Amino acid sequence: MDAILETQGLSKQFLGFTAVGDVSLSVRRGSIHGLIGPNGAGKTTCFNLLTKFLPPTSGTIRFNGRDITRMKPAEVARLGLVRSFQISAVFPHLTVLENVRVALQRQRGGSFDFWRSDSVLRRFDARARDLLEDVGLTAFAQRAAGELPYGRKRALEIATTLALEPTMMLLDEPTAGMTAEDVDRIVTLVKRVAEGRTVLMVEHNLKVVEGLCDTITVLTRGRILAEGPYAEVSRNPEVIAAYLGT
Ligand code: ADP
Repeated sequence: MDAILETQGLSKQFLGFTAVGDVSLSVRRGSIHGLIGPNGAGKTTCFNLLTKFLPPTSGTIRFNGRDITRMKPAEVARLGLVRSFQISAVFPHLTVLENVRVALQRQRGGSFDFWRSDSVLRRFDARARDLLEDVGLTAFAQRAAGELPYGRKRALEIATTLALEPTMMLLDEPTAGMTAEDVDRIVTLVKRVAEGRTVLMVEHNLKVVEGLCDTITVLTRGRILAEGPYAEVSRNPEVIAAYLGT
C-alpha cells in the first residue's frame, strides 16, 4: 500500500492516563479515511499529535516519506499536511473573499513592497475567487464572514485551508451541528476536495462516513479496535458494542 501517513506505536499520556495508546495507523494516498469512535476515544488527541499540536509520549509519525515526529506545526503544514481549522480562524469583519485572500497571502509570504504590487494582488484576488467557486461560496464573496450561516462558514474554513495547497487534509467533524441540507453540501464538497488529495476525517455522522470514506479506523479508549471498509467494520460486534456502550 502506498501510505502517505503512517504512525508506529503512537501514544500520548496525560499524567499517566493513556489518551492514545500504541496507535499504528496507515492512510493510503488518495483515500478518504475516517477516524471514528465514541466520545473520549482519543480522536482529537490523535489529530493534535498528527498536526504536532501535541508532542507524542512515544511512537513515530511519517508523512510523505519523512519523519515528522519532531517537527513544529508550521513545518508540517508547509509539507502539505493541514488541519481544517489550522489557519482558518475566520476573520468575522472581513468579507468572505478577503478571508481567502488573507489565507493566500499568508501562504505565499513576501515583503511589504511585494504585497503592494497590483498585479500580485490581482492574482491573489483571482485565485481567491476560484477557491470560493470550488466551495460554492461565490454568491457570498462580499458578505462579512461573521454573518455567514454556520454551514457556509465551515465551507469558508475549507476554502482557507485549500489556500495552503495541502496534499493531505485533516477534517475535524466537518458536519458537526449542521442541518441536513448543509450536510449534503459538505459531503459533496469533501468529495471534490478529496480529488487528487488525501483526507483523514473525524466524523460522528455514520451515514456521512459510509458515503465518503474508503477506509475507517475505529478508536476506543485510545486504541484501534477495528479497521477496514465501512461495510465490514460496521458489522463487527466489538464495534457495535463500543458504540452502544455495552
Ligand atoms: P475524542 O476526541 O475521541 O472525544 P479526546 O482525544 O478528546 O477524545 O480525549 C481522549 C481522552 O483523553 C479523554 O479521556 C480526555 O478526557 C483525555 N484528554 C484529552 N486531552 C487531555 C488533556 N490535555 N489532559 C488530560 N486529559 C486529556
